[in-house]
Amino acid sequence: MIKFDDVSKIYGEKHAVDHVSMEIKEGEFFVLIGPSGCGKTTTLKMINRLIPLSSGYIYFKDQPISSYKLDEMRWDIGYVLQQIALFPHMTIRDNIAQVPLMKKWANEDIDSQVDKLLNMVGLPAEQYRNRMPAELSGGQQQRVGVVRALAADPPVILMDEPFSALDPISREKLQDDLLKLQSEINKTIIFVTHDITEAFKLGDRICLMNEGRIEQIGAPDDFLRQPNNDFVRSFIGDMSGKVSFAEDYMVNSPFDNRCPVIQPDTKMETVFKLLQLHEQLNVTSSGKHYGAITRSSVFERLSEGGNHL
Ligand code: ADP
Ligand code: MG
Repeated sequence: MIKFDDVSKIYGEKHAVDHVSMEIKEGEFFVLIGPSGCGKTTTLKMINRLIPLSSGYIYFKDQPISSYKLDEMRWDIGYVLQQIALFPHMTIRDNIAQVPLMKKWANEDIDSQVDKLLNMVGLPAEQYRNRMPAELSGGQQQRVGVVRALAADPPVILMDEPFSALDPISREKLQDDLLKLQSEINKTIIFVTHDITEAFKLGDRICLMNEGRIEQIGAPDDFLRQPNNDFVRSFIGDMSGKVSFAEDYMVNSPFDNRCPVIQPDTKMETVFKLLQLHEQLNVTSSGKHYGAITRSSVFERLSEGGNHL
Protein backbone atom coordinates (compact mmCIF):
# COMPACT_ATOMS: atom_id res chain seq x y z
CA MET A 1 0.00 0.00 0.00
CA ILE A 2 2.78 2.38 1.01
CA LYS A 3 6.39 1.63 0.30
CA PHE A 4 9.49 3.54 1.40
CA ASP A 5 12.52 2.97 -0.78
CA ASP A 6 15.72 4.35 0.76
CA VAL A 7 14.06 7.55 1.95
CA SER A 8 16.03 10.30 3.66
CA LYS A 9 15.18 13.76 4.91
CA ILE A 10 18.08 16.04 5.65
CA TYR A 11 17.88 19.40 7.40
CA GLY A 12 21.25 21.10 6.98
CA GLU A 13 23.60 18.49 8.43
CA LYS A 14 20.90 16.62 10.29
CA HIS A 15 19.49 13.36 8.95
CA ALA A 16 15.97 13.58 10.38
CA VAL A 17 15.12 10.41 8.43
CA ASP A 18 18.08 8.32 7.38
CA HIS A 19 17.78 5.74 4.57
CA VAL A 20 14.45 4.26 5.58
CA SER A 21 13.03 1.36 3.56
CA MET A 22 9.85 -0.36 4.62
CA GLU A 23 6.48 -1.46 3.34
CA ILE A 24 3.11 -0.89 4.97
CA LYS A 25 0.50 -3.39 3.88
CA GLU A 26 -3.10 -2.75 3.01
CA GLY A 27 -5.41 -3.01 6.01
CA GLU A 28 -2.53 -2.98 8.43
CA PHE A 29 -2.37 -1.09 11.73
CA PHE A 30 1.22 0.10 11.53
CA VAL A 31 2.76 1.90 14.51
CA LEU A 32 5.78 4.19 14.28
CA ILE A 33 7.44 4.54 17.64
CA GLY A 34 10.66 5.93 19.06
CA PRO A 35 12.07 8.62 21.32
CA SER A 36 11.32 12.28 20.74
CA GLY A 37 13.17 13.65 17.71
CA CYS A 38 13.80 10.23 16.10
CA GLY A 39 11.95 11.20 12.92
CA LYS A 40 8.41 9.84 13.38
CA THR A 41 6.53 12.99 12.40
CA THR A 42 8.86 13.65 9.47
CA THR A 43 8.31 10.10 8.22
CA LEU A 44 4.55 10.48 8.49
CA LYS A 45 4.42 13.90 6.84
CA MET A 46 6.48 12.74 3.90
CA ILE A 47 3.76 10.23 3.05
CA ASN A 48 1.16 12.89 2.28
CA ARG A 49 3.78 15.32 1.00
CA LEU A 50 3.53 17.83 3.81
CA ILE A 51 7.34 17.45 3.83
CA PRO A 52 9.32 16.83 0.61
CA LEU A 53 11.89 14.01 0.55
CA SER A 54 15.62 14.76 0.28
CA SER A 55 16.23 11.43 -1.47
CA GLY A 56 14.58 8.09 -2.17
CA TYR A 57 11.03 7.25 -3.14
CA ILE A 58 7.71 6.71 -1.46
CA TYR A 59 5.13 4.71 -3.39
CA PHE A 60 1.40 4.89 -2.73
CA LYS A 61 -0.45 2.02 -4.40
CA ASP A 62 2.60 1.27 -6.56
CA GLN A 63 2.91 4.83 -7.92
CA PRO A 64 5.48 7.34 -6.64
CA ILE A 65 3.66 9.87 -4.46
CA SER A 66 5.06 12.63 -6.65
CA SER A 67 2.95 11.37 -9.56
CA TYR A 68 -0.35 12.08 -7.78
CA LYS A 69 -2.25 15.32 -7.83
CA LEU A 70 -1.69 16.74 -4.39
CA ASP A 71 -5.33 17.41 -3.52
CA GLU A 72 -6.56 14.04 -4.64
CA MET A 73 -3.83 12.25 -2.76
CA ARG A 74 -4.63 14.14 0.41
CA TRP A 75 -8.28 13.18 0.08
CA ASP A 76 -7.21 9.55 -0.08
CA ILE A 77 -5.08 9.93 3.01
CA GLY A 78 -6.80 11.11 6.19
CA TYR A 79 -4.63 12.89 8.71
CA VAL A 80 -5.12 13.28 12.48
CA LEU A 81 -2.84 15.63 14.37
CA GLN A 82 -1.77 15.48 17.99
CA GLN A 83 -3.68 18.65 18.77
CA ILE A 84 -6.68 18.48 16.51
CA ALA A 85 -8.08 21.85 15.65
CA LEU A 86 -11.78 21.85 14.90
CA PHE A 87 -13.15 24.97 13.21
CA PRO A 88 -14.65 26.76 16.23
CA HIS A 89 -17.39 28.55 14.30
CA MET A 90 -18.70 25.40 12.59
CA THR A 91 -20.98 22.70 13.94
CA ILE A 92 -19.60 19.22 14.51
CA ARG A 93 -21.42 18.07 11.38
CA ASP A 94 -19.82 20.78 9.25
CA ASN A 95 -16.39 20.12 10.73
CA ILE A 96 -16.64 16.47 9.74
CA ALA A 97 -18.13 17.29 6.34
CA GLN A 98 -15.21 19.34 4.97
CA VAL A 99 -13.51 16.76 2.78
CA PRO A 100 -16.74 15.12 1.56
CA LEU A 101 -17.90 18.64 0.57
CA MET A 102 -14.70 19.23 -1.38
CA LYS A 103 -15.25 15.89 -3.05
CA LYS A 104 -18.74 17.11 -3.94
CA TRP A 105 -20.65 14.40 -2.15
CA ALA A 106 -24.44 14.75 -2.12
CA ASN A 107 -25.78 16.32 1.07
CA GLU A 108 -27.76 13.27 2.16
CA ASP A 109 -24.70 11.07 1.72
CA ILE A 110 -22.69 13.45 3.86
CA ASP A 111 -25.34 13.48 6.57
CA SER A 112 -25.61 9.74 6.76
CA GLN A 113 -21.83 9.38 6.83
CA VAL A 114 -21.49 11.96 9.63
CA ASP A 115 -24.17 10.20 11.68
CA LYS A 116 -22.69 6.79 11.15
CA LEU A 117 -19.22 7.91 12.22
CA LEU A 118 -20.39 9.87 15.26
CA ASN A 119 -22.40 6.90 16.47
CA MET A 120 -19.44 4.64 15.93
CA VAL A 121 -17.25 6.60 18.34
CA GLY A 122 -19.87 6.87 21.06
CA LEU A 123 -21.17 10.37 20.26
CA PRO A 124 -24.86 9.82 19.46
CA ALA A 125 -25.39 11.77 16.25
CA GLU A 126 -28.76 13.31 17.13
CA GLN A 127 -27.21 14.76 20.28
CA TYR A 128 -23.91 15.94 18.88
CA ARG A 129 -24.12 16.74 15.18
CA ASN A 130 -25.39 20.29 15.64
CA ARG A 131 -23.24 21.25 18.59
CA MET A 132 -20.30 23.64 18.41
CA PRO A 133 -16.81 22.35 19.24
CA ALA A 134 -16.63 24.42 22.45
CA GLU A 135 -19.60 22.44 23.79
CA LEU A 136 -17.55 19.23 23.75
CA SER A 137 -14.88 18.00 26.16
CA GLY A 138 -11.30 17.63 24.98
CA GLY A 139 -11.72 13.89 24.58
CA GLN A 140 -14.92 14.30 22.60
CA GLN A 141 -13.28 16.88 20.34
CA GLN A 142 -10.41 14.51 19.73
CA ARG A 143 -12.93 11.85 18.76
CA VAL A 144 -14.45 14.24 16.25
CA GLY A 145 -10.93 14.86 14.93
CA VAL A 146 -10.48 11.13 14.37
CA VAL A 147 -13.88 10.85 12.71
CA ARG A 148 -13.17 13.86 10.50
CA ALA A 149 -10.12 12.10 9.09
CA LEU A 150 -12.34 9.12 8.21
CA ALA A 151 -15.19 11.15 6.73
CA ALA A 152 -14.41 10.81 3.04
CA ASP A 153 -13.60 7.13 3.49
CA PRO A 154 -9.88 7.41 2.74
CA PRO A 155 -8.15 4.05 2.42
CA VAL A 156 -5.20 5.34 4.46
CA ILE A 157 -5.18 7.28 7.72
CA LEU A 158 -2.12 8.91 9.26
CA MET A 159 -2.29 9.65 12.96
CA ASP A 160 0.41 11.62 14.78
CA GLU A 161 0.21 11.00 18.54
CA PRO A 162 -3.53 11.62 18.37
CA PHE A 163 -4.23 10.65 21.97
CA SER A 164 -1.20 11.93 23.80
CA ALA A 165 -2.91 15.07 25.09
CA LEU A 166 -5.77 13.08 26.63
CA ASP A 167 -6.29 11.82 30.16
CA PRO A 168 -5.65 8.08 30.59
CA ILE A 169 -9.33 7.11 30.63
CA SER A 170 -10.33 8.95 27.45
CA ARG A 171 -7.17 7.67 25.92
CA GLU A 172 -7.97 4.03 26.59
CA LYS A 173 -11.52 4.50 25.42
CA LEU A 174 -10.36 6.05 22.15
CA GLN A 175 -7.79 3.31 21.64
CA ASP A 176 -10.59 0.76 22.03
CA ASP A 177 -12.82 2.72 19.63
CA LEU A 178 -10.06 2.90 17.09
CA LEU A 179 -9.37 -0.84 17.28
CA LYS A 180 -13.05 -1.54 16.82
CA LEU A 181 -13.27 0.92 13.95
CA GLN A 182 -10.24 -0.63 12.32
CA SER A 183 -11.74 -4.11 12.53
CA GLU A 184 -15.03 -2.86 11.07
CA ILE A 185 -13.77 -0.66 8.25
CA ASN A 186 -10.41 -2.24 7.58
CA LYS A 187 -8.34 0.87 6.85
CA THR A 188 -4.61 1.12 6.55
CA ILE A 189 -3.59 3.11 9.62
CA ILE A 190 -0.16 4.54 10.29
CA PHE A 191 -0.07 5.64 13.88
CA VAL A 192 2.73 7.55 15.60
CA THR A 193 3.25 7.27 19.33
CA HIS A 194 6.10 7.37 21.82
CA ASP A 195 4.17 5.17 24.24
CA ILE A 196 5.20 1.53 24.09
CA THR A 197 2.04 0.30 25.82
CA GLU A 198 -0.10 2.06 23.22
CA ALA A 199 2.07 0.64 20.43
CA PHE A 200 1.71 -2.91 21.74
CA LYS A 201 -2.01 -2.55 22.20
CA LEU A 202 -2.75 -1.13 18.75
CA GLY A 203 -0.11 -2.29 16.32
CA ASP A 204 -0.30 -5.25 13.97
CA ARG A 205 3.30 -4.31 13.33
CA ILE A 206 5.56 -1.83 15.03
CA CYS A 207 8.46 0.11 13.55
CA LEU A 208 10.89 1.33 16.19
CA MET A 209 12.98 4.31 15.05
CA ASN A 210 16.06 5.89 16.56
CA GLU A 211 17.94 8.90 15.16
CA GLY A 212 16.19 8.66 11.81
CA ARG A 213 16.87 4.96 11.33
CA ILE A 214 14.82 1.82 11.79
CA GLU A 215 15.99 -0.33 14.69
CA GLN A 216 13.36 -3.04 14.24
CA ILE A 217 10.10 -3.73 12.42
CA GLY A 218 7.85 -6.56 13.48
CA ALA A 219 4.81 -7.79 15.36
CA PRO A 220 4.71 -6.87 19.05
CA ASP A 221 5.60 -10.46 19.83
CA ASP A 222 8.79 -10.26 17.77
CA PHE A 223 9.97 -7.35 19.91
CA LEU A 224 9.52 -9.37 23.07
CA ARG A 225 10.91 -12.62 21.75
CA GLN A 226 13.63 -11.40 19.42
CA PRO A 227 14.75 -7.84 20.10
CA ASN A 228 17.33 -6.89 17.44
CA ASN A 229 19.75 -5.08 19.71
CA ASP A 230 20.29 -3.34 23.05
CA PHE A 231 18.46 -0.21 21.97
CA VAL A 232 15.34 -2.26 21.25
CA ARG A 233 15.72 -4.19 24.48
CA SER A 234 15.98 -1.08 26.58
CA PHE A 235 13.16 0.68 24.72
CA ILE A 236 10.73 -2.18 25.32
CA GLY A 237 12.15 -2.80 28.78
CA ASP A 238 9.14 -1.28 30.46
CA MET A 239 6.79 -3.28 28.34
CA SER A 240 8.39 -6.64 28.92
CA GLY A 241 8.23 -5.75 32.60
CA LYS A 242 4.50 -5.21 32.31
CA VAL A 243 4.02 -8.35 30.30
CA SER A 244 5.83 -10.71 32.60
CA PHE A 245 7.82 -10.33 35.77
CA ALA A 246 9.40 -12.88 38.07
CA GLU A 247 7.86 -11.07 41.04
CA ASP A 248 4.33 -11.82 39.78
CA TYR A 249 4.94 -15.56 39.93
CA MET A 250 6.57 -15.86 43.34
CA VAL A 251 5.39 -18.05 46.15
CA ASN A 252 6.42 -17.89 49.77
CA SER A 253 9.21 -20.37 50.10
CA PRO A 254 12.50 -20.37 51.98
CA PHE A 255 15.88 -19.88 50.34
CA ASP A 256 17.15 -23.12 48.82
CA ASN A 257 20.92 -23.05 48.38
CA ARG A 258 20.83 -25.74 45.67
CA CYS A 259 18.86 -23.44 43.35
CA PRO A 260 19.91 -20.43 41.29
CA VAL A 261 19.11 -16.87 42.35
CA ILE A 262 17.15 -14.38 40.24
CA GLN A 263 16.00 -10.79 40.81
CA PRO A 264 12.33 -9.83 41.31
CA ASP A 265 12.41 -7.93 38.00
CA THR A 266 13.87 -10.79 35.95
CA LYS A 267 11.89 -11.21 32.75
CA MET A 268 9.74 -14.30 32.53
CA GLU A 269 11.48 -15.21 29.30
CA THR A 270 14.62 -15.83 31.34
CA VAL A 271 12.69 -17.48 34.14
CA PHE A 272 11.22 -20.02 31.73
CA LYS A 273 14.65 -20.90 30.42
CA LEU A 274 15.98 -21.45 33.93
CA LEU A 275 12.96 -23.51 34.90
CA GLN A 276 13.77 -25.95 32.14
CA LEU A 277 16.94 -26.77 34.08
CA HIS A 278 15.85 -26.25 37.69
CA GLU A 279 12.77 -27.14 39.68
CA GLN A 280 12.98 -23.94 41.74
CA LEU A 281 14.53 -20.45 41.64
CA ASN A 282 15.26 -18.18 44.58
CA VAL A 283 14.03 -14.61 44.16
CA THR A 284 16.62 -12.61 46.03
CA SER A 285 17.92 -9.08 45.69
CA SER A 286 20.65 -7.23 47.65
CA GLY A 287 20.81 -10.03 50.17
CA LYS A 288 17.05 -10.01 50.82
CA HIS A 289 15.11 -13.18 50.06
CA TYR A 290 11.62 -12.48 48.66
CA GLY A 291 10.40 -15.98 47.84
CA ALA A 292 10.72 -18.62 45.17
CA ILE A 293 9.47 -19.47 41.75
CA THR A 294 8.84 -23.13 41.14
CA ARG A 295 7.67 -24.99 38.05
CA SER A 296 4.42 -25.78 39.76
CA SER A 297 3.84 -22.20 40.98
CA VAL A 298 4.22 -20.91 37.43
CA PHE A 299 1.90 -23.54 35.98
CA GLU A 300 -0.66 -22.75 38.63
CA ARG A 301 -0.52 -19.03 37.94
CA LEU A 302 -0.78 -19.56 34.20
CA SER A 303 -3.69 -21.95 34.53
CA GLU A 304 -5.59 -19.37 36.60
CA GLY A 305 -6.04 -17.73 33.23
CA GLY A 306 -5.94 -14.24 34.66
CA ASN A 307 -2.42 -13.75 33.52
CA HIS A 308 -1.32 -11.40 30.83
CA LEU A 309 1.55 -13.39 29.37
P1 ADP B 1 9.63 13.01 16.22
O1 ADP B 1 8.29 13.21 15.58
O2 ADP B 1 10.06 11.58 16.24
O3 ADP B 1 9.71 13.62 17.58
P2 ADP B 1 10.58 14.75 14.09
O4 ADP B 1 10.30 13.97 12.86
O5 ADP B 1 9.65 15.85 14.41
O6 ADP B 1 10.73 13.75 15.32
O7 ADP B 1 12.04 15.37 13.97
C1 ADP B 1 13.19 14.60 13.64
C2 ADP B 1 14.42 15.47 13.71
O8 ADP B 1 14.41 16.44 12.70
C3 ADP B 1 14.57 16.22 15.01
O9 ADP B 1 15.91 16.23 15.38
C4 ADP B 1 14.09 17.60 14.67
O10 ADP B 1 14.72 18.54 15.48
C5 ADP B 1 14.52 17.74 13.22
N1 ADP B 1 13.61 18.62 12.49
C6 ADP B 1 12.31 18.42 12.28
N2 ADP B 1 11.76 19.40 11.54
C7 ADP B 1 12.78 20.24 11.26
C8 ADP B 1 12.88 21.47 10.52
N3 ADP B 1 11.81 22.00 9.90
N4 ADP B 1 14.09 22.06 10.43
C9 ADP B 1 15.18 21.52 11.02
N5 ADP B 1 15.16 20.37 11.74
C10 ADP B 1 13.98 19.75 11.86
MG1 MG C 1 6.53 14.09 16.34
